[in-house]
Amino acid sequence: MARRKIVAGNWKMNMTPSQAVALCAELKDLVKSDDVDVVYCVPAIDIIPVVEAVKGTNVAVGAEDMSFEEKGAFTGEISADMLLDAGVKYVIIGHSERREYHKEDDASLNKKVLKAIEKGLTPILCCGETLEQREMGITLDWIRTQIKSDLKDVTAAQVAELVIAYEPIWAIGTGKTATTAQAEEVCKAIRECIAEVYGTDTAEKVRIQYGGSVNAGNAAELFAQPNIDGGLVGGASLKADFGKIVCYK
Ligand code: PEP
Repeated sequence: MARRKIVAGNWKMNMTPSQAVALCAELKDLVKSDDVDVVYCVPAIDIIPVVEAVKGTNVAVGAEDMSFEEKGAFTGEISADMLLDAGVKYVIIGHSERREYHKEDDASLNKKVLKAIEKGLTPILCCGETLEQREMGITLDWIRTQIKSDLKDVTAAQVAELVIAYEPIWAIGTGKTATTAQAEEVCKAIRECIAEVYGTDTAEKVRIQYGGSVNAGNAAELFAQPNIDGGLVGGASLKADFGKIVCYK
């Protein structure tokens, strides 16, 4: 069974609510697709207007992060229940910017993954190596450790439903894309790691995205790789080019 591609935009800290609604209108016809799942992962304050703006379209809405706590005295945090109630379907967990600037570690990310799944949100779990780690030749070991720690206590059936995004940190927002061979090598290794821990059936089902300076010019080649099931797209998700990435064929 072929895996359905999934292309998600990560808007990061861009777009005020009114700009967000305008972008949804601009992209509406450009991102229409029968065979690709399309997701806009947007800043918390944009969630409600974006859910409204994409109603009746093929676009689903994601959050960029969430708390692993249920509710209560956690100022500034957003819970899974809040996201669900607002109409969110996906949540990015463990983006390298969260890992770096907010010191999120694998133990807390594992709690977030478990909470998202418990509530019925689909995690887009990010992993990736630094340039230093790549140059040291430890990329695959590092990614395997991240995946195994972040997915601790997640069942095979749950893993089959989630999305993993391989995002080499050195390629994010830098204009440097991993070569197609580099991206495929790591996505394949992630699938092999899933097969080893959860079995081949699960590994065949889980969707693995590549992220890192994906653009209208490189999406087709990247997404044609056997282990790359779409992309997590930062900068290029904020403009009309995102439509070309979704309709990459
Ligand atoms: C990202 O933020 O997840 C990302 C991949 O950004 P960019 O496409 O801008 O490199």
